[in-house]
Amino acid sequence: QSQRPFDLAHVIRHGIELLAAERSHLPEIVLELDASLPQIHGSAAEIQQVLLNLIRNAAQAIGDDFDETAYIKIQLAHDQNDAILEVEDNGPGMPEEVARHIFEPFFTTKDIGQGTGLGLSVSYFIVTEHHGGTIDVASNPGEGTRFTIRLPKDRNRD
Ligand code: ADP
Ligand code: MG
Repeated sequence: QSQRPFDLAHVIRHGIELLAAERSHLPEIVLELDASLPQIHGSAAEIQQVLLNLIRNAAQAIGDDFDETAYIKIQLAHDQNDAILEVEDNGPGMPEEVARHIFEPFFTTKDIGQGTGLGLSVSYFIVTEHHGGTIDVASNPGEGTRFTIRLPKDRNRD
């Protein structure tokens, strides 16, 4: 995959359009994008895939039977070194025994045909190996789930 400067906010807006095109019944999507983020060096197509994995998982976790309090929140910020992308949902969350395994290939809790268990392992690879970043999860059963991705702004440092 080609490594070029790209606009992460644009990738996020496009990802939401794609999600809205595949699911008509979506919870509220809350967007908080820091406009001062400079371009990121990497593969826009790969990061698009990561974002879609996260927001599809969030929409699937919330399901179709939600009330007006359901949301998926996407936040983009940055500190001195990294762009920081957070995807949070107030779906069912997951217990620690599940969270511990979610980045492993073929790990899924979904029914056969509903999930391959590859989304997060591929995302992990893209973020860490291809972009020198990190991906972490924080989840509480009954409260929700938050994924945090950090992507170095300047890949010439490493
Ligand atoms: P798949 O979606 O095909 O199951 P993933 O690698 O995308 O595979 O996710 C692995 C597992 O992580 C899911 O089966 C689910 O148990 C858990 N998971 C991922 N995202 C969430 C989320 N937002 N809320 C609750 N559980 C999640
Ligand atoms: Mg998935």
